[in-house]
Amino acid sequence: MLKIGSHVSFSDKGLQTAAKEAISYGSSTFMIYTGAPQNTRRKPIDSLYIEEGKQLMEEAGIGEIVVHAPYIVNLGSYKPDTFELAVGFLQEEIRRTDYIGVRNIVLHPGAYTDKDAEYGIARIAEGLNEVLAGTKETNVNIALETMAGKGTEIGRSFEEIAAIIDKVQDNHRLTVCMDTCHMHDAGYDLINDLDGVLAEFDRIVGLDRVAVVHVNDSKNPRGAGKDRHAPIGSGWLGHEAVSRIVNHELLKGRPFILETPWIGKEDKTERPMYEAEIALLSGNTLQRFGEPFLEDVERLHHFFGKQEIDPVIFVLGTWEQLKDAKAKKADPREPMERLFDLVMAGEALPSGLTEEQVNQRITAWFAGKQLLANV
Ligand code: FE
Ligand code: FE
Ligand code: ZN
Repeated sequence: MLKIGSHVSFSDKGLQTAAKEAISYGSSTFMIYTGAPQNTRRKPIDSLYIEEGKQLMEEAGIGEIVVHAPYIVNLGSYKPDTFELAVGFLQEEIRRTDYIGVRNIVLHPGAYTDKDAEYGIARIAEGLNEVLAGTKETNVNIALETMAGKGTEIGRSFEEIAAIIDKVQDNHRLTVCMDTCHMHDAGYDLINDLDGVLAEFDRIVGLDRVAVVHVNDSKNPRGAGKDRHAPIGSGWLGHEAVSRIVNHELLKGRPFILETPWIGKEDKTERPMYEAEIALLSGNTLQRFGEPFLEDVERLHHFFGKQEIDPVIFVLGTWEQLKDAKAKKADPREPMERLFDLVMAGEALPSGLTEEQVNQRITAWFAGKQLLANV
């Protein structure tokens, strides 16, 4: 069975809160930050509701989960205090991860800031050597994330990941987290040459290192080096390409984690599309959402079909338009918001649906007509 879930909140009652949220989306795995990703303040380990969380996970058949290290730590920094803070904090995070019983902690390798990539790679390896040496008693691996290449971040090519791994002594404790948005933004062609990209990764890093896959669509064209995630189907990768990744034979068994943005016309009404994305990618939309949901999706196909609106052309056309600053100022609405407005104005769906429910149906419309044929 596909292991798929999303990033969930670890606030309030820790693992119990996280497991509850993950279960509400129909997840079979999930990912947490053990505290706010932007800072290093952490609650004491005995207030994380580990037992309660594990109980819920077991009942729901959730086994493997993933931790993500805060993204403010930078092992690539030449500044001694920043570097030492990163090393020390990562060691604590690894002990926390071990205590929760999690095998992989995802890490953004780091950024070289005012130096260069070669310096960054060497510095990150130096940091990892220190981090690993100080956490030998744990069972935790560090999963280096493939990065989009924004700013000076390292990990934007498979060669950079391999170069880090090469320089680390205990590198059997280094794994990789592939991020689909990041790889696409870094220039890898996941749409037309997925097999080629995986073969290249296997040659340079080794596919056996892949321990986690982050599943995100991208707001930017391939090679943009931006790192802006989009809900599945509403970006440049598209539902089909993402579905092929999630179901690829060579990635079988890994936890697939969605980090897609929440959607809503206002901050207050924003909701994640995780539940729909999980069902669509694992092929159990009918079981999860029922017959009326699919009837609504069929209505959307009729409604948009009549206006000759094709999901892929509409989504890419909108992102293309938003690249132009003037056009963006005139109408800043992203693809899903525009589609939502069209649906509401055209009364394409039965009344009484919430904004979230409408957006879930639009997400399913992205999956194409075969969704209706396959159930
Ligand atoms: Fe990440
Ligand atoms: Fe990611
Ligand atoms: Zn990202």
